[in-house]
Amino acid sequence: MSECTHDCSSCSLNCPSKNGGIPKDEANKGSNVKHIIAVVSGKGGVGKSLVTSMLAVHLSRKGYKVGVLDADITGPSIPKAFGVYADVEGDENGAMLPPVTKTGIKVMSVNLMLEDETRPVVWRGSLIAGTVRQFWTDTAWGDLDFLLVDCPPGTGDVPLTVFQSLPIDGCVIVSSPQDLVAMIVKKAANMADMMSIPVLGLVENMSFVKCPDCGKEIKIFGESHIDEIADEFGYDLLARIPIDTSVASYVDKGMIEYIICDYLDSAADSIAKKCADKVK
Ligand code: ADP
Repeated sequence: MSECTHDCSSCSLNCPSKNGGIPKDEANKGSNVKHIIAVVSGKGGVGKSLVTSMLAVHLSRKGYKVGVLDADITGPSIPKAFGVYADVEGDENGAMLPPVTKTGIKVMSVNLMLEDETRPVVWRGSLIAGTVRQFWTDTAWGDLDFLLVDCPPGTGDVPLTVFQSLPIDGCVIVSSPQDLVAMIVKKAANMADMMSIPVLGLVENMSFVKCPDCGKEIKIFGESHIDEIADEFGYDLLARIPIDTSVASYVDKGMIEYIICDYLDSAADSIAKKCADKVK
């Protein structure tokens, strides 16, 4: 784990240099994961889980072996998007085996362990982080090219601790085009910077809605500032996703794997290329 980029001896953050971080080799011996990508957002409800699921689907369609670790413990939505309700089983070594979706994506989520998926998970941050860590150390993921992590929203203690609980190689920041976005994206960017995690790019969700009659793009949340932010930080803008009722309906039906759209197709290519370049 790399060192912090700030003086963490006096800061209140739970920095990796304070806790030693978590090395990749703490993976379960049943795991062989090449790249761990966190999907983060400065605030909730911007479509982070949707972007995580769709990126997983596009990477899988390109032939990569993909898993999704649902680290949004108090708002887990990955199993529902994939229509996965199987119980988590164990292997002969006592490791957890992630249920597999219809098209072969492996999924681990606290919702797969609850007797009643509507029961809230009212846990302290340390317990949440411990659970996420176990989703890495005690899960036999098998061979994966990409493990996508749907992180808890925001930049407070819980997302930060979760961020530290996994050996993340890079992150994707999801935002929506509201006025507050600049500040919120900057917070997420600064969090990644504190952890020395490379930002692979930005995704703007809910950028516009297309009028079904005339095709005009209506900017419901106002003008986007995402290009300026991308320029300011030197990040790539990976994709702009419109508000699309068909997307919401694929999610609601648990059929995200059968979605017909290419909003994140080139974003998946770009992420795969950046990861491959880093390994070279
Ligand atoms: P977050 O993970 O940031 O809290 P979600 O991905 O769970 O947000 O999205 C919140 C809700 O909005 C979900 O019901 C999702 O299906 C819906 N949604 C997200 N993005 C879009 C979009 N571009 N078009 C239509 N519905 C969307």
